[in-house]
Amino acid sequence: MRHKKRNGKYRYEYWGSLQHARQLVNEGAAGIVHEKLIHRLYTSGELRQMIRERDQFTCGYCGGHGDTIDHIVPKSKGGLLTPVNCVCSCRQCNKQKDDTDVFDFLLRKNKAPIVINS
Ligand SMILES: [Zn+2]
Repeated sequence: MRHKKRNGKYRYEYWGSLQHARQLVNEGAAGIVHEKLIHRLYTSGELRQMIRERDQFTCGYCGGHGDTIDHIVPKSKGGLLTPVNCVCSCRQCNKQKDDTDVFDFLLRKNKAPIVINS
């Protein structure tokens, strides 16, 4: 996403792949403005705070107090900062999970995921 000045106005445009744009829209992080323009719905900080509040500051992996955001599909494997792909996590679980697959991580911890209904 970049912005440029056009006719005295700043515009934000997405210059990534179509697949990346689709993923942002499908996972609730962006909306479609028109066929060639999407709009991010949240700043990174707003989205992180929204996820913490959605998950009630509870770690999605151990149930303890969570104050960090973990990408369920790691960024290194194509996961994005979206409401669907992120979960509130405690610092310890976030560090332990690192960029491993979430199911492998939960198997190692011998835990089932915690689901929070909002
Ligand atoms: Zn935890």
